[in-house]
Amino acid sequence: MGNELEAGHILPLLRTNWLGHSFRFFSEIGSTNVALKKDNAKRPLPNGTLYLTDFQTAGRGRLNRSWVAPKESSLLLSILLRPNLPPENVHWLTMMGSLAAVETVHDQLGIEMRVKWPNDLVVQQKDVWHKVGGILVEGEFDGAGQLTTAVYGMGLNLNIPANQLPDATTPATSLMMVLQRPVEREQLLLTFLDQFEQLYEDMLGGYSPVADWRDKLVTIGQTVTVSRVSDAEPLLGTAVDITPSGYLIVKDEQGHHHTLQAGDVSLRGCFDN
Ligand code: ADP
Repeated sequence: MGNELEAGHILPLLRTNWLGHSFRFFSEIGSTNVALKKDNAKRPLPNGTLYLTDFQTAGRGRLNRSWVAPKESSLLLSILLRPNLPPENVHWLTMMGSLAAVETVHDQLGIEMRVKWPNDLVVQQKDVWHKVGGILVEGEFDGAGQLTTAVYGMGLNLNIPANQLPDATTPATSLMMVLQRPVEREQLLLTFLDQFEQLYEDMLGGYSPVADWRDKLVTIGQTVTVSRVSDAEPLLGTAVDITPSGYLIVKDEQGHHHTLQAGDVSLRGCFDN
């Protein structure tokens, strides 16, 4: 039986103008981000090249953490882009990509997905925010700090049953667990690509995703513990806002404000119980 995510099946169904027109499906791979970066370094691939897999043996998160998902349970994809974003806007890609995922899951399944700063996709179950997806953007920068080439990677838990969910600090769930029925992967992928292409073009046209992304953040107003690679002691405080670049502003117990960049920070909120 053919797989519904294989190129031969997906390519004729694409509704995008350019995104995913260069497409590879892997039944198994180490990491789609790593493979896409490597292949593009060997020979430049078209903008919008999409790598998709059914299983990653070395899926990755931030800070060398791993992303794990059972075979055929998820959307695991990477997209190659050349956004040329100026230094102050490099996080826009993570933001617009999360918005594309949030819109897709809302349109297709009626589920209210949200974002945990900086890169987690979460849904609420029994009053607790559970992690249902993650985004990992990796990029190359020019001398002026512009994000020239980027790989947008995303893992979204669709059909992972309770007993196969990873044991993670932020409790994990899948969209199937929320809906109590399996999720069809093909339509979700096609809609995600439509949304992503639209929001990406808006972004390149100068439309900032920051305000819409802020609206979807569950982090603002939360009590948080921040572990920074550079500090021995974690920082305790309240997340009060984000900057126009997407940095998180945390007010500590003494009332001092700290501006945190995503790169070196691990955040635990009171919802990580
Ligand atoms: P953080 O939550 O600190 O931002 P990352 O975004 O780097 O972490 O994601 C990696 C972490 O996500 C892993 O350390 C693990 O705890 C968790 N994780 C791994 N796979 C999954 C999954 N399929 N669903 C939910 N959480 C996962």
